[in-house]
Amino acid sequence: MGDLAERLTALDERIAGAARSAGRDPAELTRIVVTKFHPSTLVEELYALGVRDVGENRQQEFSEKARATAGLEGLRWHFIGQVQTNKARAVRSAASVVHSVDRGRLADALDAAAEPGDAVLDVLLQVNLTDDPARGGVAPADLEALAEHAAARRTLRVRGVMAVAPLDEAAAAAFERLRGYADTVRSVVPDAHWISAGMTADFAEAITAGATHLRIGSAITGPRPARG
Ligand SMILES: *Cc1c(COP(=O)(O)O)cnc(C)c1O
Repeated sequence: MGDLAERLTALDERIAGAARSAGRDPAELTRIVVTKFHPSTLVEELYALGVRDVGENRQQEFSEKARATAGLEGLRWHFIGQVQTNKARAVRSAASVVHSVDRGRLADALDAAAEPGDAVLDVLLQVNLTDDPARGGVAPADLEALAEHAAARRTLRVRGVMAVAPLDEAAAAAFERLRGYADTVRSVVPDAHWISAGMTADFAEAITAGATHLRIGSAITGPRPARG
């Protein structure tokens, strides 16, 4: 726990420093701790340290941890991985935000998964910053149409964009493109101002490019345990 608290504090100081260097207020930033491959006890430790925003990228692990931590009041789960349409209900039922809406059919499935009394679900449109369709995300050319489609789903609220930096390009340049794609979405949904970008290796570049939501794993949690 001591080490975890230290890593969290150190990371938050680095985030605040990067924000100030970029002329931004650190208070505009939401730092999401990505807990993938770590047990739900880590989520409990993070919660005790004041963390309220946590993220997972695989549905089964997400559902298990969300169930195990259901008693932690005010904890918000961010789903940041690819979603199969047949898992839309499982994702919707436990997520506060889905960062990875990348196709109209997924927006439809998440919308159809709403049950009476469910809150409107915040969603981000994931944009592919590479030419490789396997990396996930909508191609930039299709983003505007996806924004229109998702914005028309009554139980979804489009809040902005999300992306992962390419492996073969400087993150700063890729995140500048993302800033432009965020403008594209705002041309459809004017108050969709969230930009989810930046991981352990590139959060400073993301902050410079206007990110509002950072998804940080290993800098806080330490190295991930080997996948089972
Ligand atoms: C794992 C993951 C992160 C966090 O990565 P780190 O490099 O550990 O900070 C962020 N975003 C997504 C989509 C991820 O899958």
